[in-house]
Amino acid sequence: MLIYLEKSLPSSRRKAVLRRALGLCPGKGGLKDGTIWLFPCAPGAVRLAMVEALPGVEKVEVRLDEISPLACSGKKKLVKVGQAQAGGKEFLMIAGPCAVESRAGYLAAARFLKKAGVHALRGGIFKPRSSPYAFQGMGYSGLDVLGEAKRLTGLPVVTEVTDPRQLEKVGAVADVIQCGARNMRNYELLKELGGQKRPVLLKRAAGASLREWLLSAEYVLKQGNSSLMLCERGDRCDSAPQPSLNLEIAREAAERTGLPVIIDPSHGTGRRSLIAPAVLAAAAAAFHGVMVEVHQNPHNAIVDGKQTLSLEEFAGLSRSLHKMLHTK
Ligand code: PEP
Ligand code: MN
Repeated sequence: MLIYLEKSLPSSRRKAVLRRALGLCPGKGGLKDGTIWLFPCAPGAVRLAMVEALPGVEKVEVRLDEISPLACSGKKKLVKVGQAQAGGKEFLMIAGPCAVESRAGYLAAARFLKKAGVHALRGGIFKPRSSPYAFQGMGYSGLDVLGEAKRLTGLPVVTEVTDPRQLEKVGAVADVIQCGARNMRNYELLKELGGQKRPVLLKRAAGASLREWLLSAEYVLKQGNSSLMLCERGDRCDSAPQPSLNLEIAREAAERTGLPVIIDPSHGTGRRSLIAPAVLAAAAAAFHGVMVEVHQNPHNAIVDGKQTLSLEEFAGLSRSLHKMLHTK
């Protein structure tokens, strides 16, 4: 931690600030050229707001690994997703409709996707929507459909929870629990996700900094769940509909954390035509996988049709990806 002191602060007062800072954050510390350094900064001892409020302090800088030490271990971690492992050599393909809309439609898509070689199915049953009038998802009846798709295909399923009260029932079926972009800052939900055993896929909120994203990851890890994957989904929201996948922040997250990082080009580009190039770019850039929205009839999808591939388009993409990954 670096504490920058006000330039006008007399040197006698500087030492007093150092003493107070050391009282708040015990450890080693020193004063040099108007700056106090404190190291190491044990997470339990970081009383950042109190240090910032000390008289004579201009600003405080903390490193990411000081405030999110579990997330920033940098040690490579593998997360099991069904038969596959995220974070290793495999490039994880998660695909499926944005939302489970009907039993027949979802099962048809699931069957096709199994043949196309995906590692896991996706499908939202609780949909966080900007409008209260928009389709909110099938809820628990959709969970039965996900269960059936699992039995039919043998594939694991990924689905989102939007409220801690959903966790028990959803966790009994889902293999990976998604924490969506809107809930990246839902700290009570993050704590609950950290206290259960299913792997968690944590999306970056639109506009969130690396620091905010990793702090949210820290919430999950701090409760003991180390099966955590990160997912970059861009900064786009309804009010800013341009493509906004941020591969730089995703790269930085992968390097600093060692956690598997996957890319969501559907929400990250918002356009069907950009999904395939973004998937290939994610593979070329050695991310750990992608999550793509695919629907049996995207033009009739209730949710996110314009950023969704048809089954045939997905099969074509899957072939290109396979070629790219297996020809050196
Ligand atoms: C989703 O993946 O279904 C979803 C709602 O995405 P996001 O949280 O990234 O908006
Ligand atoms: Mn969607």
